[in-house]
Amino acid sequence: MQNCLFCKIANKEVPAEIIYEDDKSIAFNDIKPVTPVHLLIIPKKHIPSINHLELRDKELAGGLFLVAQKIARAEGVDKTGYRLIFNIGKDAGQTVDHLHLHLLGGKKLPWA
Ligand code: AMP
Ligand code: ZN
Repeated sequence: MQNCLFCKIANKEVPAEIIYEDDKSIAFNDIKPVTPVHLLIIPKKHIPSINHLELRDKELAGGLFLVAQKIARAEGVDKTGYRLIFNIGKDAGQTVDHLHLHLLGGKKLPWA
C-alpha cells in the first residue's frame, strides 16, 4: 500500500533494523523499544489489522507466530519469557495500520 510506513519498511524504502525476513514476513526492532527486546513482526502483505484478516490469510497469520518463536530463541528470551501483542484500533493504541505483532521480552513485564 502506497502510504503505509510498514509496507515501505517491507519494501526497503524506509530503513529499519531488520532482524528476520522470509518470503511472507519481516521482523525489525521497534524504533521506541519499551523492553530490552522489542521487535515487530509483520506480514509483507498489507493487512490493516486483525479486524481485516480473511480466511485466505490463515497460513500467513499463523506463520507470524512461528517467526516469533524463532526470533525469541535467537534473541535469547525463549526461556526467560516474552509477550506477543496485537493492538487493534484506537482503544488498544494501534498507531500503524499495518498488522504487526509486538514481541516483548528481556525484563519482567506488567501483569506477570
Ligand atoms: P502500535 O502502537 O501497536 O500500532 O505499534 C506501532 C509501533 O511501531 C510502535 O511501538 C512504534 O514505536 C513503532 N514504530 C513506528 N515507526 C517505526 C519505524 N519507523 N521503525 C520501527 N518501529 C516503528
Ligand atoms: Zn502496509
